[in-house]
Order: sequence, then structure tokens, then C-alpha cells
Amino acid sequence: MSFVAVDEIRKVDPEVAVLFEREADRQRNTIELIASENHVSPAVLQAMGSIFTNKYAEGYPGKRYYGGCVNMDGVESLAIERAKKLFGCDHANVQAHSGSQANTAVYLAVLNPGDTILSLDLSHGGHLSHGMKINITGLLYHIVHYGVSPKTFQFDMAEVRRLAIEHKPKLILTGASAYPRTIDFAKFTEIAKEVGAVHMADIAHIAGLVATGLHPSPIPVAEFVTTTTHKTLRGPRGGMTMCKADFAKKLDSRMFPGIQGGPLMHVIAAKAVAFAEALKPEFKTYQQQILKNAQALCEGLKSAGIHIVSGGTDNHLMLVDLRPSHPNVTGKAAETWLEAANIITNKNMIPFDERKPVETSGLRLGTPAITTRGMKEKEMKLIAQWISAVLTNNGDANVIEKTRHDVLGLCKQFPLP
Ligand SMILES: *Cc1c(COP(=O)(O)O)cnc(C)c1O
Repeated sequence: MSFVAVDEIRKVDPEVAVLFEREADRQRNTIELIASENHVSPAVLQAMGSIFTNKYAEGYPGKRYYGGCVNMDGVESLAIERAKKLFGCDHANVQAHSGSQANTAVYLAVLNPGDTILSLDLSHGGHLSHGMKINITGLLYHIVHYGVSPKTFQFDMAEVRRLAIEHKPKLILTGASAYPRTIDFAKFTEIAKEVGAVHMADIAHIAGLVATGLHPSPIPVAEFVTTTTHKTLRGPRGGMTMCKADFAKKLDSRMFPGIQGGPLMHVIAAKAVAFAEALKPEFKTYQQQILKNAQALCEGLKSAGIHIVSGGTDNHLMLVDLRPSHPNVTGKAAETWLEAANIITNKNMIPFDERKPVETSGLRLGTPAITTRGMKEKEMKLIAQWISAVLTNNGDANVIEKTRHDVLGLCKQFPLP
């Protein structure tokens, strides 16, 4: 067992150790199609589980509130320099504990309570940190949403512009959790400039594609760009905020002491390691394969008669609309049946969904994790057939069992480290 060492844990806490072992087995033996998940490298894992967790380092490199920070300064400076190289940004703050924290620091840097944010509707692929009623954004700010067009299921930029002119937001948010198409960040900036708004692009999902030039980058056009480090970027669970030089001081002070105390230095060390990996040529090859796999999975599902929202994908994820092919199958049922067959997905609202968020009519599927395992187009065709068989047979126990058997065979061919 190399990728999860639990010998020390077992000595003091067998109850937790057994959960680690079961989780290692679960990850080995399932096909992970959750678009926001990935398998980090052993190097990233080692950095996270390290003695850097022992250290308090409130402040920033060279300006700490605690002694003994020499190596913390070293590792955080490396993470920052690599992030700047990877994305070509003026300034990077690598301290955000999560993607949501990366966003919150920006909100506090540019908004006052009651100010207006224009952002993507959650049921059209937006994120809870972009204005959900019971999120800090919904509680503190006035939220106006844009959505996708009911015809194309893509952004209608004329409609975005109309909303911006009508509501005069102080901040326009772009980026999504479930939008399969290319985002025209430059066009959003044009609209933001026209109404005097700041543009924040949240590239949590597509950061790996942006870093390797496979999706247009918002860095040249948006004042702020935020991301998670654990999705396509394949680093540790965490966040990062980038901005133009003018906003650097304000952003840093809103992150700490604005919303956070001591940074998670073991996670920042792992971010540095992940960025070093992302700067290598192999990382671009990996991101290209994510895209090829998404195309192959999408085509496989379509040829099995399954409808894909907007007709396809330009990135690492796709949204299945179950209604045309399987009108009686909810996203919830599909997720449960597929999990029984060791295929892990998440139910997802589709735009204009009539079902409730706990049921949904959609499934979100993504290829970052299975691409990390080395699977290619050939395997995508198989996975598409298996998904189709489970859905078409209404979760029949024999079909699930047969599929689970096939999935286990495929997982053995593509072992995790
Ligand atoms: C995943 C995600 C986040 C933040 O995620 P955390 O769970 O807070 O790390 C933020 N924005 C978007 C668009 C996301 O998809």
C-alpha cells in the first residue's frame, strides 16, 4: 500500500485507519467521473502530509507574525513564483484554504455590503459562492443572475449585457461548476468596462486547461482570477487568488487578516509541488488527453441516444439531460445505480430543470480523474456503453452486477500508484 500509508495511524487509531484503507480500495476500484475531483501525485500527497502542518506563519513571506518562518517563506515564495509563471499573472496569493475563501477575499476587497454582483445562475451551472441565498454572497450582497439561452444552452452575451446595463453591478463574476462550453472572458470584460464593473473570473474547474493554453485565459482581461488547486490543476485541496498589481495589497490584507488566520503551510507546500508538476510539458499532454477523453465519452453517450446539454463539450465536463432518453429516470436514481456499478458521478440540475435539486434531471460527468489513471478514448467508449446499459435497464440488479465486474477489470488495468 504505497499511496496511503496508515501504519502509524493504525497503532493509535484503528477506527480511522480502517476508513483510510476502505477509501483507498474505493478509489482504486471505482471509475471517478466527478468533474471536480482528481488523483494527486504521490509527491503532492507527501507534501500535504508533512511537518509543515506544525508551523504558524501568519502574514506573508518576509513579513510574518511568528519567528522560525525561514522555510515557510521559502516554500510560499516558490508557490507564488510558480503560480505567476504558470498563469502569467501580476500577483498571486496562495493562502486561500479553499476556492470559496479565494472568492470571499475578492468580494471583501472590492464590495461593500448591499452592492450588486452579476453572476451565473446556480441552476445553470453557477457555484454556491457566486450568490446562493444562504451563502455569504447571498447574505451580504444584492445578487442578479444571468443564465444560458433556452435555445443554445450557451451564454447569450447580448442578454448578459442587457442585465449589466439594467442593474449596474459593481462586480461581474464569470466561471462555473457545470458549464461545458468555452467562456469568452474578453467579452465579459468589455461588458464590465461599459458599466464600470470589476470582472472576477473563477476558473476553479478549468484552471489546468487555462494554465496549458487549452482554454482562453482570463488573466489578461480580468482584474481578479480565482481558482481551486484541486480540480483539473491536480494539486492539494485549496484555493488561490490572482490579481492585477494595483489590487495586490488590498487583496492580501483581505485574505489575511481579513478572512483567515494562519495559512495551511503543508497545503501551500503541496501547491508549490503541484505547480512545479503543472509547469512540465507532460502536464499539457495530460490536459490535452482530458479534452480528447471528454470528446470520446460525449460521443459514446450520444451514439447510445443520450442527450448532452448544449449538444457537446469544449472542456473536461459534460451535462447529461436524462429526460429525452430516460424520462422516468432522475439524476438521483442514475447516480445511485451507477455507484452500485462502481461508476461515481453526481446528479446535477440542468438549465430549466423541472425537478428539484435533490432529484434533478441531469448528471455531470468529467474526465480529469480517469485521465490521470491513464485511460484513453478506447476506455471512454466502454464507459459510455456501461452507463447507457445501467440507465436503459432501469438499474436492473443483474446489469449492475455485470457492469461492476467489468469496471473492476478496467480499474485493475489502470492502477493508482
Ligand atoms: C469548486 C468551485 C469553487 C470552490 O470550491 P471549494 O469547495 O470552496 O474549494 C469555487 N468556484 C467554482 C466555480 C467551483 O466550481
